[in-house]
Amino acid sequence: MGESDYLADPMADSSRVLVLNSGSSSLKFALLDPHSGEQYLSGIGEALGGPEPLLTWKSPGQKHSRQLDSGAAHGVVIDLLVRDLLAGSQPAAGNLIAVGHRVVHGGEQFAHSVVIDQKVIDAIAECAALAPLHNPPGLLGIHAAINAFPEIPQVAVFDTAFHQTLPRHAYLYALPYALYRDQRIRRYGMHGSSHRFVCERAAELLRKPLRELNIISAHLGNGASVTAVRNGQSVDTSMGLTPMEGLVMGTRCGDIDPGLLLHLGDALGFSLEKISSLLNRESGLLGISQLSNDCRELESAAADGHEGAKLALEIFCYRLAKYIAAYTVPLQRVDAVVFTGGIGENSIFVREQVLHQLRHLGFHVDAKHNESIRFGAEGRITAADSAVALVIPTNEEWVIARDAAALVRPGE
Ligand code: AMP
Repeated sequence: MGESDYLADPMADSSRVLVLNSGSSSLKFALLDPHSGEQYLSGIGEALGGPEPLLTWKSPGQKHSRQLDSGAAHGVVIDLLVRDLLAGSQPAAGNLIAVGHRVVHGGEQFAHSVVIDQKVIDAIAECAALAPLHNPPGLLGIHAAINAFPEIPQVAVFDTAFHQTLPRHAYLYALPYALYRDQRIRRYGMHGSSHRFVCERAAELLRKPLRELNIISAHLGNGASVTAVRNGQSVDTSMGLTPMEGLVMGTRCGDIDPGLLLHLGDALGFSLEKISSLLNRESGLLGISQLSNDCRELESAAADGHEGAKLALEIFCYRLAKYIAAYTVPLQRVDAVVFTGGIGENSIFVREQVLHQLRHLGFHVDAKHNESIRFGAEGRITAADSAVALVIPTNEEWVIARDAAALVRPGE
C-alpha cells in the first residue's frame, strides 16, 4: 500500500488527521477524526535509536507491540505506519487530509498553527537554539512524514503559540534588556495546546463565551505548568524560556534561586552537564522523595508512612497553590480553577490539598465529587456554595487535529 492510497477521497464524508509528537527517542502517533476527536489508531515508538526500540499501538479493542531492529529511528516508525498500521486501519485511514505535528518551541514567530513549508522548517530550526532538547526531534518527525506523505499537507502546532498573548510585564525577565532584544531570551511557556483545550471546554461547561472566560488552568503531568487565562487568552504561565521553570515536576526542579546555579558551579565544581542533569532529571518529586517521580506511587508510599514521599507531595501542592493564588492578580475575577494532566485528572489527594490551601479564596471541595471524577471523567469538584474548580481531561491530539483540519479544509 502506498501513500496515494491515503489521499483524501472527496466523496468521503469524514476526514482523518494523523498527529505526530516526536521526542528525542520517542514518536507518539494518533489517527483521529478532527471533528469528533474519535481515535482509530494510536501508539508510541520508544527507545528509538537505541539497542531495543519498541513499537506499541492500539486500534479499537486491540493492543499490539513489536520489537524494532536495533538503531531503528523515527523514519522506521513512520514507514511502518504507512506500510502496515494505517493499512490495517482502513477505511478509517482512507481519507487522510493532513499530518499534524506537535512542535515544542515556536519562539516569537508563531502565534498560531501553520501549514509547513521550507520557510516554516527553517524557522523551527532557528527556534532550536531556544529548545535544543525539543525542536530537533520535532524536525526529524516532520522530515520523515514529508518523505512518507509528500502529497499530504503537514501542519505544525506549537506548544508556545497559545502564550504569545502574554503582556510584556509577564514575559520579560528582569535581566539586561539586550538579552531579550538580541537573543530573544524571555518567558515563552509550554503545554499551550493542553491549556487551550481545557479553556475551550471550560467555556462550554460554564456556558460562557470564550472571550469572557477567566480561568486558571493547571496541567499536572510528569511535566507541569499553570496558566492564567483572561478573556480566553493566556496572560501568564509558569514555564519560562524552557520547561524547567515553575511548578515542582516529576524530575524537574521548577523555580529555584538562580544564585544556586552559581553556587553549584563555583563552590561545588559541578559542570554544566551535571547541573543540567541534576535540574532536569534528578530533581522534582523524584529528587525530594528519593523514591519515585510518579505521583501515584508517592501517594501510596506516603499513605504507608514514607517521609520522603510525604515531603515531595507537600512541596508539590504548596508550590501549585501559591501559583494559583498569584494568578488571581492578573485575573481579578476567577471563573474556575481547572485541573488536567495525569495528576490533575486523577489525584484526589493533590486536588483536595491544593484547594484546601486556597480556602481563603472561597474554594471548598465536595469530597464525593472529588472522589468520583477520575479516569477520564470531567466535572465540578467543589461544593455548590464554593468558588468553582473543575476537572477536564486534556486532549492535545484533538487540538492538533482540529488546527490541521481547519488550516487545510477551512470552513468545514
Ligand atoms: P502524564 O504526564 O499527563 O501522563 O501524567 C503522569 C502523572 O500522572 C504521573 O505522576 C502519574 O503518577 C500521575 N497519575 C496517573 N494516574 C494517577 C492516579 N490515579 N493518582 C495519582 N496520580 C496519577
